[in-house]
Amino acid sequence: MVKLKYKYKIILIILFLLSITLFSADWPVKDITYKNFTSFFGETRGDHFHNGVDIVKKGAKIYPIEKGEILFYYDEDEEPTRATIGIGKYVIIDHYEYRSYYCHLDKIDIKNKILIDKNQSIGIIGNTGRSSGEHLHFAIKKNNFFIDPFEILKLNIEKTNNSPIIDNILFKSGYYMSFENDKETSLTLPFREVFDIYILARTYDDREMHKGIKEVTIDIKDNNDKNVLSNLIKFNYIENNKLNGKHSIDEIYTKVWERNYIYLGRWTKKYRRENYTLIITVKDIWGNSKVLKKSISFK
Ligand SMILES: [Zn+2]
Repeated sequence: MVKLKYKYKIILIILFLLSITLFSADWPVKDITYKNFTSFFGETRGDHFHNGVDIVKKGAKIYPIEKGEILFYYDEDEEPTRATIGIGKYVIIDHYEYRSYYCHLDKIDIKNKILIDKNQSIGIIGNTGRSSGEHLHFAIKKNNFFIDPFEILKLNIEKTNNSPIIDNILFKSGYYMSFENDKETSLTLPFREVFDIYILARTYDDREMHKGIKEVTIDIKDNNDKNVLSNLIKFNYIENNKLNGKHSIDEIYTKVWERNYIYLGRWTKKYRRENYTLIITVKDIWGNSKVLKKSISFK
């Protein structure tokens, strides 16, 4: 009996330690809602993926997401060369399981510190470096990969419950392009063998350029309910500038008329005039999803 009790104690202690390491992290800016996020992880930045999230809150203080060790800071004002770098004034904090990055700061508060607690300010949100407007670029690196901060910080802020929006589905075959909205349940395509399929998708928001897509799936089924195309794209981490270690930026994003479409795959048709069903599901970082179903026929 004594042994059993001892075991329980050990289990309780392990659970307690797990709860500290897993659930104690908090967003670096206090009192924010989904409206304070202006950019998300995995968005395109031309030749690379956005490796963190952008938080806008004028003049706000920045706190470490949990206690840690200050690994590095860069303040151009202190450098003899005054060299401005892309991410401006920034701080990196080591939390042992992962590192957190705080960039474009206006002012750094922690210069003489080695260790930092959650309630000690790192600095103030700013506009230093290559930045178009005051914001915090915040990123998390784990096992040498940048991961979506929402993987660790989850939903402990006010979130939106609105479904993501699919503005367009684009079917492209050579010069042929068809833009389909999410309203009609059926669509007719011209007779072609191969289609490249793209979508324009984003979280529900008034500001259309801001996406926050976490996962996209596409399935095309034939008359016998058999999958003829199936693809899943997840936005979890970036390894060597590849999304989830798999997709390069050119494989994911294509610019069509100045808008960034997500590429879902190439559909090579086997049968000439059969009818098909297309199902696209988009999940956002808040856990909301949108399912779109269309029947496809050919003229
Ligand atoms: Zn950013």
